[in-house]
This record gives sequence, C-alpha cells and structure tokens, in this order.
Amino acid sequence: MSDKEFMQEAIELSVNNVKSRKGGPFGAVVVKDGKIIARAANSVTLTNDPTAHAEVNAIREACRVLNTFQLTGCEIYTSCEPCPMCLGAIYWARPDRVFYANTKKDAAEINFDDDFIYQEIAKPLNERNMKFIQLSREEALVAFDEWKKKSDKIEY
Ligand SMILES: [Zn+2]
Repeated sequence: MSDKEFMQEAIELSVNNVKSRKGGPFGAVVVKDGKIIARAANSVTLTNDPTAHAEVNAIREACRVLNTFQLTGCEIYTSCEPCPMCLGAIYWARPDRVFYANTKKDAAEINFDDDFIYQEIAKPLNERNMKFIQLSREEALVAFDEWKKKSDKIEY
C-alpha cells in the first residue's frame, strides 16, 4: 500500500466515526513494514476519556499488538495534524515518521482549537491559565534517587 492509501484508511476512520456518532472527526493508523498494525478513531465522548484521541488510541493499540512501549520502525498516519497531547505521545512512542492530512487550522475552523494549549506551553508556569502549584519536591525526589541507583531498570 502507498502512503496515500494508508492515509485514506485514517481518513475513512475519521469519516465513519462522525457517521456512527462515536466521536470526533479524527482517525489514525500505525504502519510497520508496509502493514497496518493498528487503527483507531477518536473516542473521547464514547469512552468519557479526554485523552482518547485517535493518535493516542492508535499508539496504545500498536504497542499492545507489538508488545512494546516504542514504535521504532513504525509510521503514523493521522487524519489531522496532532494536538499538543498527541504530539507529546508521538514523541514518547518514537515512530520514524508522521503523516497528517488536515491541519490544526482546519481543525480550529470546526472548533477543535488547540492553539491555546500551544500558547500555554510557551508561557512560564506561573503565567499559565491553569494553576500549577509545587508541593513536596524533597519527598518526591526519593523515587528519582531510587531510579538513579537501580541497575536493572528498563530504560525508555
Ligand atoms: Zn490529540
């Protein structure tokens, strides 16, 4: 299958998701060695999960299928340019490439506007709309010290 055909799969997932009223107009597939190993649509409203974006759902499914926490050697085809959460998830999953169809500007035009999150990220913590209050750093550092000392950890 070609890149365009893989993208068409992601697009069909997004269109069918709207038609079936299962969630937002977003779909994604993960491809490895020329084969689709995971496909997913947005299921935020279906599952009451604000993190259930198509890309996150597809990453979870691909990792389950491959029994790994890294998508090295994989490609993600998403029907829309990823939001900041999915962008972060994609960086953590480490696929080789990402293909996208609709832009975040297209998404903003139908009221899926994530630009404010991009703006928030650029601000210092104390200037963000969401209050972030630091607490108990000394206590929390215990886990980091344990991690640093541990010789048989699974790094990622
Ligand atoms: Zn997202």
